[in-house]
Amino acid sequence: MYIPEDKIEEIRSSVDIVDYINQFVPLRRVGKNYVGLCPFHTEKTPSFTISPDKQLYHCFGCGAGGNLFNFVMQYEKVSFFEAVRKVAEYAGIEIPKPEKKERWVETEFEELYEANRFAHEFFVRNLLRTSEGKKAMEYLYKRGINDASIKNFGIGYSPDQWDALIQYAIKHNFPLESLEKAGLIVKREDGSYYDRFKDRIMFPIFSISGRIIAFGGRRLKEDENIPKYINSPETKIYVKSKVLYGLYQAKDTIRKKEYAILVEGYTDCISLFQAWIENVVASGGTALTDEQVRLISNYARTIYFLYDADSAGARAMLRGVNIILAHGLDVYIVRLPEGEDPDSFIRKNPVFEFEKLIENAINFIDFKASTYQQLGKFDDPNVKSKAIRSLVESISKIPDELKRSIFIREVSSKYKLPEQVLSQELETIILKERKSLKKREFEGQVEDQEVIKFKSIPAEERDLAKILLEADEVALKFVFNYIHEDEITSEYVKVIYQNVFELFKQASETGEYKKLNIHEFILKFDDDKFRGFVTNIALSKYEISKFWEVKKVKDYENELMELWKAIDDVLRRFYLRKIRKMEQDLTYEIAEAERVKDEEKLSELLARKSELAKKKNIISKKGFSDTIKKYLLHIKNGGN
Ligand SMILES: [Zn+2]
Repeated sequence: MYIPEDKIEEIRSSVDIVDYINQFVPLRRVGKNYVGLCPFHTEKTPSFTISPDKQLYHCFGCGAGGNLFNFVMQYEKVSFFEAVRKVAEYAGIEIPKPEKKERWVETEFEELYEANRFAHEFFVRNLLRTSEGKKAMEYLYKRGINDASIKNFGIGYSPDQWDALIQYAIKHNFPLESLEKAGLIVKREDGSYYDRFKDRIMFPIFSISGRIIAFGGRRLKEDENIPKYINSPETKIYVKSKVLYGLYQAKDTIRKKEYAILVEGYTDCISLFQAWIENVVASGGTALTDEQVRLISNYARTIYFLYDADSAGARAMLRGVNIILAHGLDVYIVRLPEGEDPDSFIRKNPVFEFEKLIENAINFIDFKASTYQQLGKFDDPNVKSKAIRSLVESISKIPDELKRSIFIREVSSKYKLPEQVLSQELETIILKERKSLKKREFEGQVEDQEVIKFKSIPAEERDLAKILLEADEVALKFVFNYIHEDEITSEYVKVIYQNVFELFKQASETGEYKKLNIHEFILKFDDDKFRGFVTNIALSKYEISKFWEVKKVKDYENELMELWKAIDDVLRRFYLRKIRKMEQDLTYEIAEAERVKDEEKLSELLARKSELAKKKNIISKKGFSDTIKKYLLHIKNGGN
């Protein structure tokens, strides 16, 4: 599929990157930029930054970055073409539709989405239009799930046959390899295939933007010999720990109500939704993960835990509480009557009874205390101290200090324990936690490797890269005069140098320098890391050295713009770097001359050394300010 470059630019520039990303990531303004919690890695303080001026985003935590198209590709896991199409749709700009075939072969992601879409079409058809589907339908009705919910959650049915989906795919000319990649069919040793899901109610799992990424299948027959639930295997588009069932349907209401209700199972989620309680998501049978809590935190800062009222449910919530607290979210536990689950409760009771449960939800301290009480732990003083320590441990997870002290006070008054003792215990736990975190960071560092790499590039080269991206022709001419490609050590900076130099050279032939278009520039490179570096540079400030703070060249300083200050500073640092290298070489030569007692050579070398020292002294004091002043005056007077 081909879209002309200027059309792509038109689409990009007609949508504000801040508006678009704000649909998925809550942003707030800080100075010229917007920041939010990064959707690409787990973090507690926002380092995900968007520049409305430059229309670029960059995460200073994990190094991700790019323009709007890159964001859509990265966030929604789609191809470049698909990203352009989505943004165009958002902007109301029409672009030619792709041919059907072209659509899913474009990337592996697209292939997986397309396989799930195709299978979904088949499962829905089976449920609604076949005689076999009738018993599945009866089951759903019996469980109280109505037609609207079936449609809203895309529920389907996989027939009681080992090759139903396979036959359907063959009939419709759909490649079996794609279905296999998505885990919908399984290859036997002899090379033949069979359906993964057989005689199951099919619950599609949606991505945050509403595309199907996997399925959960519940057995229809109550046969203890087959597993009650099976899921699609993990693929490039489906990572179990990063998905919350129902979030696509619930996200707007969660944002509106400012809290999310967290349940365990698919049917709990659907039943509540059906009862107009639409801010509900399901963790889907796995223990609650960091990623899942982070997903919710994009929409609300409060979670109501609503798991089954049995000991397994309580244990799961005990574990989950600490994770939620660690993300700085508030957590309440909703208590169901003995023996009930959310699904059964909402089917037996009117909605206002459910709302009462929410109103009477308890905080994690009361929940933990009552759970331990039930387990009889408060009778034995030894066990009691353990339970209290566990309470303090939960409190230690809360990032906010004020909140921590409020909860400590609550525990203190509830259990008649001196606040000071509890605070001391809290400090001990926090210190220990910090130490192990530091150790983990030291050992791990997988996520932040790129950022460290960016930082390891010498400051003068990073600033040079920024100058190259932002300078006009006059400034570039000056820079190219003084800094040569060979002096650059970073490969990334070298690539930028080469590209800008190429543009500059072309301009001197055609006569008109067209400033580098950073959007066209980053789209040229299919390298996430390089793009991350470019956006890192574009969204960082110049690291102008202390030199400028101590230097007091009044009028000159006022006169000059940020850019020329940076140029002066970069040239100075490059120059000093060069001199230091020459001094090093000289030291060796002098030692050698002394060894062979070559007096003549020695005095020549020493003269050179003092000459270098003089130059170094001048440059470190004055920098290139005089040269720049002269150059600018020359340009002003019409020179070139
Ligand atoms: Zn990040």
